[in-house]
Amino acid sequence: MRQKIVAGNWKMNKNWQDAVALASEIVNIFQDEIPASSHVKAILNPPFLYLSAIKKLLPENKNLFLGAQNCYNKASGAFTGEISAEMLASVGVQYTIIGHSERREYFGETSQMLAQKTDILLANNITPIFCCGEALDIREKGTHLEYVAQQLTEGVFHLSETDFQKIVIAYEPIWAIGTGKTATSAQAQEMHAYLRGHIAKKYGENIAQNTSILYGGSCNPQNAKELFSQTDVDGGLIGGASLKSRDFIEIVKSF
Ligand code: PEP
Repeated sequence: MRQKIVAGNWKMNKNWQDAVALASEIVNIFQDEIPASSHVKAILNPPFLYLSAIKKLLPENKNLFLGAQNCYNKASGAFTGEISAEMLASVGVQYTIIGHSERREYFGETSQMLAQKTDILLANNITPIFCCGEALDIREKGTHLEYVAQQLTEGVFHLSETDFQKIVIAYEPIWAIGTGKTATSAQAQEMHAYLRGHIAKKYGENIAQNTSILYGGSCNPQNAKELFSQTDVDGGLIGGASLKSRDFIEIVKSF
């Protein structure tokens, strides 16, 4: 069975006190309300600065994991201000978001850089959450399916079968991120099924069926159930709603 995942992308929000408070609340509610038998993995992706402290708050043997929001595409060296995959691994990071549309747009991240980030994360035993998604003009032109499939081809299709099975994909239509405008469940399902088919052509049906593909873009406690009920939607990458403990947990409970 494919892994069900809900990852919270905190972006550049929360000061130290508020971040620790949010993580503590999520841990407490999670322990009280999510049954031990739940198969849903929840991932907190706070800013880099808080990773070590939040790691200490996460209980062992629970489906609660630590993720980062980015890493650099080189192993180490004179790259002032950057954070390497090895550094992330050394503080206990288990997942890392890469290729978020904000990184692609505001920081000029290219497919080639993302392919390097994928490799470097895997070399450090961190699961990449590889983001892809189209802008509104591409959807309006009707070329969105091919466009997003091409992002996968360029970013992760260099991986061996073994390595490809270690990654998670997140489809995030840019027009739905932070806009309050969600893709309909039919639009999400159409894209996820198309991407799964694209993966099947490259890696075979079995690997495609086992790849978790998350939806992101104004997902909230009201729409998560409907989105997650789609055959090919395996969870969510959550921005705004991950900043409220109750909303985040309700999304986790939506499965
Ligand atoms: C995101 O940026 O990953 C995201 C999905 O944001 P939001 O949920 O706020 O649209």
